[in-house]
Amino acid sequence: MNFTEGVERMNKNQYLRSIPSIDVLLLHERVQKLINHTSKDLVLYILRELIEEYRKSVLNESFEGPKPMSNEDFINLLESRSKQFTGQNLKRVINATGVVLHTNLGRAVFGENMKEKFWEVLSNYSNLELNLDTGKRGSRYEPLVEKIKYLTKGEDELVVNNNAAAVMLVLSSVAKDKEVIVSRGELVEIGGAFRIPDVMEQSGAKLVEVGTTNKTNERDYESKINEETGALLKVHTSNYKILGFTQDVSLETLVNLGKENHVPVIEDLGSGVLLDLEKYGLSHEPTVQESVAAGTDIVTFSGDKLLGGPQAGIIVGKKEWIDKMKKNPLTRAFRIDKMTVAALDIVFSYYVQGNHIEESIPSLKALSMNYGDLQKKAQKLKSVLDRIGNEEMVIHTRKDESQVGGGSLPLERMQTEVVVIEFIKSSVARVEEGLRKLEVPIIARIKDKSLLLDVRTIKEEDFLLIMENFTQVLEKHGNG
Ligand SMILES: *Cc1c(COP(=O)(O)O)cnc(C)c1O
Repeated sequence: MNFTEGVERMNKNQYLRSIPSIDVLLLHERVQKLINHTSKDLVLYILRELIEEYRKSVLNESFEGPKPMSNEDFINLLESRSKQFTGQNLKRVINATGVVLHTNLGRAVFGENMKEKFWEVLSNYSNLELNLDTGKRGSRYEPLVEKIKYLTKGEDELVVNNNAAAVMLVLSSVAKDKEVIVSRGELVEIGGAFRIPDVMEQSGAKLVEVGTTNKTNERDYESKINEETGALLKVHTSNYKILGFTQDVSLETLVNLGKENHVPVIEDLGSGVLLDLEKYGLSHEPTVQESVAAGTDIVTFSGDKLLGGPQAGIIVGKKEWIDKMKKNPLTRAFRIDKMTVAALDIVFSYYVQGNHIEESIPSLKALSMNYGDLQKKAQKLKSVLDRIGNEEMVIHTRKDESQVGGGSLPLERMQTEVVVIEFIKSSVARVEEGLRKLEVPIIARIKDKSLLLDVRTIKEEDFLLIMENFTQVLEKHGNG
């Protein structure tokens, strides 16, 4: 044993000895108070958890690791941890990133006008699986069928938990133990370990890759079609783009090829849109209607990307295939909850009503805002923040770019106006962290040592709250 080891051991023992006994902690006034507000059971549970974590960290760290803990230190930790049990951990945040469909921030948000309708269905019994006309058992997809059919002109439909599940279900129902032909340019990964080749394997279908990363032509598909072929799959490469010397096969060509060879054609659209985004000045994103009209046998897309609804995987397709899917046990495993049915039912009704859809679907509203409106909105936020009157903050506005997000339209940059805040003394990273840890966190971007607030994704009703939050954070960190 050398000298350093001796010091280390001594310190570790010292740290371990500093752990207070639970009985002593329980007598403390603040702990008693917490027990009154919650329960002794919870307090004991957390204390044991904290002590165990501390013991482990002491044993794992070198002697420069954790400091000896006082009783007060433990009680502080106890109080803050108890909030994780008694409060809501999933809570609202203010999205100041300008990324409209931010996967980390919950993607699409619901409109105010959904609140009452949604809650009415959820806080009461509903006809989820009761056909009110016949009095017999119905299907939970029934409330959605007619609307989706009308909107997409597809023959039939099915909805599962998310688009990843939709792709899995489709492949498993249509092409299990058969070959599915996909272009090498479309073997994408969509985050969260969803890779087309892996999904294919799980579904029991055999992947047949054709073409190259940048070029695939009709003959590539044709040469691989045989008796074993179960489907031709087209994946909309929604989260990246191959530029330059490229070629892919159009959906129309694939559909013809499928028809000639009696093989179904599947398209995974990823972010499903029902309307033409060009009217918002964005690039054309293939719509679900276009895919159906082109004769695709099965189309799948997400509920919470550009559609602007809840998480869901929507499958639209020829009846013979949807019938097959309904008999697949995976359909039961991927079954949507009534919350999803309720939300989609409302969202689709907005699409059916059509006009002023942006007023009902917040993500479409955020995408549709023009630069002039954004400039005015940013000016307004700046003037609210100016009221703080703290010389620590230098505030101005300037042009920047916001992103669509959610793996949709990856190259698309929308002109926006951001509020830029520079801090004279405070570190911008500490302010950003402070804002993130508030009761209502603000998630903002840092660029060139400034904090950027993109008003595209901020509600105007939140401007005052943002002002209060800045005041609070500057009081805490402002002079550091
Ligand atoms: C996003 C995406 C998926 C996964 O959709 P989720 O609804 O997030 O499960 C699948 N395929 C493509 C092409 C996508 O863009």
